[in-house]
Amino acid sequence: MTAAVQTRSTLPAERSILRERGQREVFCGLTSIVWLHRKMQDAFFLVIGSRTCAHLLQSAAGVMIFAEPRFATAIIEDRDLAGLASADEEVERMAAEVMRRRPGIKQLFLVGSCPSEVIKLDLARIAARLDKRMSPGVRVLYYSGSGIETTFTQGEDACLAAIAATLPAASADQAVSLLVVGALADVVEDQFRRYFHDMAVRSIAFLPSSRGGDLPAIGPGTRYLLAQPFLAQTAAILDDRGATRIDALFPLGAEGTSAWLMAAADALGVSPQRARAVIADPEQRARAVLEKWRSELRGKRAFFFPDSQLEIPLARFLWRELGVDPIEIGTPYLHSAHLAAELGLIPAGTQISEGQDVDKQLDRCRHARPDITICGLGLANPLEAEGLTTKWSIELLFTPIHGYEQAGDLAALFQRPLDRRSRLKV
Ligand code: SF4
Repeated sequence: MTAAVQTRSTLPAERSILRERGQREVFCGLTSIVWLHRKMQDAFFLVIGSRTCAHLLQSAAGVMIFAEPRFATAIIEDRDLAGLASADEEVERMAAEVMRRRPGIKQLFLVGSCPSEVIKLDLARIAARLDKRMSPGVRVLYYSGSGIETTFTQGEDACLAAIAATLPAASADQAVSLLVVGALADVVEDQFRRYFHDMAVRSIAFLPSSRGGDLPAIGPGTRYLLAQPFLAQTAAILDDRGATRIDALFPLGAEGTSAWLMAAADALGVSPQRARAVIADPEQRARAVLEKWRSELRGKRAFFFPDSQLEIPLARFLWRELGVDPIEIGTPYLHSAHLAAELGLIPAGTQISEGQDVDKQLDRCRHARPDITICGLGLANPLEAEGLTTKWSIELLFTPIHGYEQAGDLAALFQRPLDRRSRLKV
């Protein structure tokens, strides 16, 4: 939280942020395994946790239970300190079992959780030991998805930070020029690759990539472009490794996608004419699609509970491209350097809040009676029962929403609940 305090001073003086540190309602970082394991096709996530963790993963994964998931939980509970040595062995035994059964796995992540029995384990050391034993065929990394330390998107941040810390180092002329950071659906990654290719950007890599063996070398010659706003820890590691962040809006909506691509083009020395020629058609198509949704959504009022850290870029998109007025934008953590450009486009007078005191925030929401409330699963049902229309923020992570081609789908995610509610009224 120190970083939030330090960086907040860079915000415009007139933008007051409400900071709350009370009870919060948000999933823990284990949840991100659900979309990370889809993206990283040769990775296995072994959660070291309790029955609660196993249950969370199974329910978050829903239908994928039938699809031989690449995650599992080693249940470590009801052990006292005397049992720690055997817990170490248990984790190693389970890891070996996973690898025996799944020979295609190239990356094994040990994922820490909250139970005190797990916190006492030195999982970093266990991962290092396993990595040594399994290398060079398999990389074993560790990160924490504990609910004490992470909200659900911070689980992705912790995972990518673990990978970023182990990427090979390279001199300025050998390092990858552009590193796009943040898990993107393959279809979106392909589109971005094509745009950069058409701009003649050839040295490009994505983190995470589908294959664990794709490990771009990074160094002072690397510019990195965040595709997600919740990657503070990963960004800090890339900074430490000598890479430089490209400051940009996030690629949500036509405006955000253009600004994101143009910022990268500028940083990499692509001429603005060439970059504009590449984006002109898809941008125009996205704007035309959004115009249709704008006519349905304009004038609606939105309230964001803090959940995914996507809230500020989403509110910017809703406001600027669809005419939806954000009443309050809650976010679990506000990285004011990464979000500076976004914050500059949020309408004055919008309440921005960081952290949560859930009862107080519920009162503000009830008082405001927004047309749509973006919140976690735990709050959605009670609010729906009170007559408010809700959108589950977790869907924004499970659905491809970045880029031009997905801009209409993103708008539809907000319009659909409103449509459902109006049909229920009829
Ligand atoms: Fe619950 Fe913690 Fe396990 Fe998450 S990591 S499911 S918060 S016990």
